[in-house]
Amino acid sequence: MPRHNYKHSEEAKRRMSEAHRKRLPIASVRFWKKVKKGLGKACWEWIGDKYPDGYGRFWYKGDNWRVNRVVWELYNGSIPEGMQVLHRCDNPLCVRLTHLFLGTYRDNIDDMVAKGRSIKGEKSCQAKLTEAQAIEVLQWFPGCGVRLKYLMYKFGVSGSCVELIRSGRNWKHLYHLHSKFHQ
Ligand SMILES: [Zn+2]
Repeated sequence: MPRHNYKHSEEAKRRMSEAHRKRLPIASVRFWKKVKKGLGKACWEWIGDKYPDGYGRFWYKGDNWRVNRVVWELYNGSIPEGMQVLHRCDNPLCVRLTHLFLGTYRDNIDDMVAKGRSIKGEKSCQAKLTEAQAIEVLQWFPGCGVRLKYLMYKFGVSGSCVELIRSGRNWKHLYHLHSKFHQ
């Protein structure tokens, strides 16, 4: 075998294993191409594919992932079982690591309620419920009649009020939780 061919195949092998080792950085290059970085302390927004609920979607390790989880894994390692990657900035498309934190499902709701309490209005059907209760409606409504009645009784609201929340027409800013709860 001519020497240069031998060298060439060794080189090819070396490159291949290097590519294998660099799989993670390659994913990150692919990832950052779909991100628009804001200036200063602004959010870095995902501009790639999205789930129907508005969250960013990225093909990673043979599956579709939420982009906030991908960026966390790329830089901080795997996410512990049962933990969520939450947004300090409340921007579902933001993937800036300093805007993300690891928390439980419960932390997520507490955070939502704390942030939303004074910001968003509570009108008409909304006025009958607190934000925490609206979150409970989104969390518990699985299209089951018994539970619908239970919610109507528990919060003293009409079925259409529950439906308004469930469909995202009321408490719009919480609607992204619906898919989070029912994914
Ligand atoms: Zn942000």
